[in-house]
Amino acid sequence: MPSSSFRGTSQPGGGQAGSAPLLGGTPEPTIFELSSPGRSAWSFRTTGIPETPMTDLVPADHLRPEPPALAEVSERDLVAHVTRLTHRQFSVDLGAYPLGSCTMKYNPKVCDAVASLPGLTAVHPSAPPSLTQGWLAVLVELEAALCAITGMAAATLQPAAGAAGELTGLLLMRAWHRSRGENRHKVIIPDSAHGTNPASVSLGGYQVVTVPSDSRGCVDMRALRTVLDGDVAGIMLTNPNTLGLFEEDIAEIAAAVHEVGGLLYYDGANLNAILGVVRPGDMGFDVVHLNLHKTFATPHGGGGPGAGPVAVSERLVPFLPGPRPVRLDGNGGLVGELSYGWAVPEHSIGRMHSWHGNALVLARALTYILLHGSDGLRQVAEVAVLNANWIRHRLSGTYEVPFDRPCMHEVVLSVRDLRREHGVRAMDVAKAVLDTGFHAPTVSFPLIVDEALMIEPTETESPQTLAALVTALEGIAAQARSDPDALHAAPRTTPVGRVDEARAARHLVPTFDAR
Ligand SMILES: *Cc1c(COP(=O)(O)O)cnc(C)c1O
Repeated sequence: MPSSSFRGTSQPGGGQAGSAPLLGGTPEPTIFELSSPGRSAWSFRTTGIPETPMTDLVPADHLRPEPPALAEVSERDLVAHVTRLTHRQFSVDLGAYPLGSCTMKYNPKVCDAVASLPGLTAVHPSAPPSLTQGWLAVLVELEAALCAITGMAAATLQPAAGAAGELTGLLLMRAWHRSRGENRHKVIIPDSAHGTNPASVSLGGYQVVTVPSDSRGCVDMRALRTVLDGDVAGIMLTNPNTLGLFEEDIAEIAAAVHEVGGLLYYDGANLNAILGVVRPGDMGFDVVHLNLHKTFATPHGGGGPGAGPVAVSERLVPFLPGPRPVRLDGNGGLVGELSYGWAVPEHSIGRMHSWHGNALVLARALTYILLHGSDGLRQVAEVAVLNANWIRHRLSGTYEVPFDRPCMHEVVLSVRDLRREHGVRAMDVAKAVLDTGFHAPTVSFPLIVDEALMIEPTETESPQTLAALVTALEGIAAQARSDPDALHAAPRTTPVGRVDEARAARHLVPTFDAR
């Protein structure tokens, strides 16, 4: 039966900023509570064709002894149940989603429309190049666009996400060092990097060497120099780092790492901060991964598909995953008259994804890039950075800003004063934000800031929306001082109230009985 954390919402409203809470309503029963023996979601007319027993169709040892314990509901009840649940979702299409580090921005619908074209969706990935010239053109064009945006020589479109791109980049680094007869063991990661970086380094078989940040929130150059030696395969820099700050000494870092023979990896998951303004290739980086599902128009969250292409400098091109979509030069091409085909790089590290990656995500990204053009992409970055700085400026009298200098696409605040004086934590503030009709900011990340609130307004929100978000956060700060207990009880307007996080972390099995 349903877990006790399902709570009714007897009191709608309670918003701080006057915007209507979006998630309220009466408790929705589980599909098993709606179940009634014998009901089913379809019934066909009798055709007179004799029924074939299942055992004639499927070998007996492949059949389960008993039917699965599924809910039995009518189609009408099923559709109503699912529709009611969809009305409880918060999404980027419904309102602002300032979840820092994640870039939950609105994605133009035209990108979905293009990615839904039958010419793109109804193609089997093993169809020969003679039947897929259009698709190949899309992939080749996208690679060229991403190289122009990052200032790199070539890119693989295979990795399915940012972290998969990181692993790809590390395998490329390893292959390059090996080709020079070297077997290096260490990869340097600043403590302000994204959490996937150290995880990918371990998965790639390297040791993580952490360097601290200094009082500016940037890599501590003195500490970096002490760990640089001939065993360093490279450094992974998240830029802007997870404090939302642009690393100031990139040129110096690049020179120092190259000097010991290491490679430079740019975590470009949050490219919306620098699009069209600066390019990792021009800063001396050897590998860059991009999150198309953050910057380039694929909605994400909830486990949907992503894409984490990896762009590389000239010297790493021979190692890229294959097969790669390529433009044929006509003389000696695979098939004389075709413009595009597939090719495996000479020293390829192999495949990083079945087929050609999450292809429709790639089609969305190319649409987004062509839609904006280079001036439009630059504007994306400028507005993302402007919006974050506007929020920083407006809230700096209300919340502590640990690194109070111009930020990039996101800003990190701290609630440690409110915690010390009123026992209110970042989590309380985040839960209270839910009652104001916004999604919550990121909490407790980056790890190097106590009681962090990380806000990424993104470039797609209007000044009015940003102002309403600021008003909501100001109201919550005032309430933290006047009535902290009310914040401990938030959220009050969502279908599920405050959950027991310790219990949730320890008991991963749902508490209802599916039978
Ligand atoms: C989101 C993010 C990642 C990880 O990307 P996934 O697609 O979730 O694997 C890596 N680095 C940074 C800076 C990110 O923001």
